Amino acid sequence: MTTLANVALGTAIALVVAAAMEPWARLLHGRVWHHRLWTIHRSHHGRREGRFETNDALSAAHAPFAAALVVIGCNLHGWLSAVTIGVGAGMTLFGISYVIVHDGLVHGRLPVAFLSKIPALRRIRDAHAVHHAKGAAPYGLFLGPRELGRTRRLVTQIPHARGARPSAPRTPDQAPEAPRDTRSDGAPRSA
Ligand SMILES: [Zn+2]
Ligand SMILES: [Zn+2]
Repeated sequence: MTTLANVALGTAIALVVAAAMEPWARLLHGRVWHHRLWTIHRSHHGRREGRFETNDALSAAHAPFAAALVVIGCNLHGWLSAVTIGVGAGMTLFGISYVIVHDGLVHGRLPVAFLSKIPALRRIRDAHAVHHAKGAAPYGLFLGPRELGRTRRLVTQIPHARGARPSAPRTPDQAPEAPRDTRSDGAPRSA
């Protein structure tokens, strides 16, 4: 393969992997963080003391793997190098986007409030605010508005679902805490 073809292959793989990270992150968030790893994730659903929260470890968990893939890929050749770097770059692209939108825009940890001028990002912010308020779906971030719409349709269409318990832990020691202080734009500060 030519160098150009390898660049095109790596770019395509990076975009596919970045897109695939959303359902993966949603699965982890809903099935693992709100259950087995709730003791860590709950720091994101309570008031943050200082700049960091224990949950940051979960947010950064994929970073070493992404960085390792890029480094390994740089030491390979041809299409194998393109594929390896592409996977690592896709994970990195998703991770950076997640930090900017989730930690920056939604929770105000980065000076990116100007992003709320973009309607699609406002919808993402508002959908994630619902997750924080209820400790339940949507568990995805970028597709949170879509997930929220689907969840609401299900609750509306299935009579018994109206009284269904959310999938987040609800035992006294596990239940998500009340949403954190809110910004003037209505978004929670963290969680
Ligand atoms: Zn959560
Ligand atoms: Zn959050």
